[in-house]
Amino acid sequence: MTKGRVIKNYNGFYYVDTGAADLTECRRRGKLKTKILVGDELEITELGDNKGVIEGLLPRRNALRRPAIANIDQMFIIMAAQSPDPNYFLLDQMLMTCEYAGIHPKVCFNKCDLNRDRAEEYRDFYAKCGYDVYLVSAATGDGIDVIKDLLPGQMTAFGGPSGVGKSSLLARILGRPLTVGRVSEKIGRGRHTTRHSEIMLLDEGTYVVDTPGFSALEFEQLEPRELLRLFPDMLAYSGGCRFSSCLHRSEPDCSVKAALAEGKIQQERYDSYCKVLDSILERKRNSW
Ligand code: GDP
Ligand code: ZN
Repeated sequence: MTKGRVIKNYNGFYYVDTGAADLTECRRRGKLKTKILVGDELEITELGDNKGVIEGLLPRRNALRRPAIANIDQMFIIMAAQSPDPNYFLLDQMLMTCEYAGIHPKVCFNKCDLNRDRAEEYRDFYAKCGYDVYLVSAATGDGIDVIKDLLPGQMTAFGGPSGVGKSSLLARILGRPLTVGRVSEKIGRGRHTTRHSEIMLLDEGTYVVDTPGFSALEFEQLEPRELLRLFPDMLAYSGGCRFSSCLHRSEPDCSVKAALAEGKIQQERYDSYCKVLDSILERKRNSW
């Protein structure tokens, strides 16, 4: 049996990187019921001629729901320092989506050539929350090498709202436009025919994946008590709340609110928490 990773899923075939020069085109065994995602690590039986059959899935470390990608080692949320202007709530929602998927993301501010001061302001803010923050410019190339150095041996995903310069940044990082991928060349198809996630194989064990359509989860589906877990910086202070059912809103003796009052938790983060909590509670009220 050979181990490999699904790089692309097309027309019922899974294209698996086993470390060999060519991808192995695999079908799944009929008895295999689990949904297989791009990024999944699996065991295949090779049938020769770069063909194989999937025998089973290795345990998933994490999975993003939209787009469906498994086993992301690191994820960068890209924002722009300006045009479009960053905002805390938008970024917080994207961070929450990653945390929900089991991924503690990194944050990258692009277009720092346009507004370095604001980028630094945001960097300081999110560094206090425990996130690694990188300031770059796809236009000047500033900061790109730092990102490149983080890639070897990892599967790295890039997400963010449109217009922040994600394509420009990826082109810089990859040293070529996104439109022609090595993987696609092997499969013999152009890359622009689908909007599915496709993992780019840069080097042995080094993968980059774009996340078209990545956006905030529909947090309304969460239980109110689950929400704080998506804010690691606030979760750290929740141990001393008087009530174990505390939602950190108006309950007495709330250690989260105490940390907020002491400036250990930043107001904008707490505001994001409250905003999402309100929408969850609203949904609950309406469903009763
Ligand atoms: P995407 O929608 O996130 O993929 O964004 P694009 O890569 O298409 O870029 C959106 C616009 O921002 C384009 O006009 C780019 O030329 C511009 N842009 C991208 N990166 C930078 C940057 O670092 N600095 C500046 N000034 N403009 C940038
Ligand atoms: Zn509390």
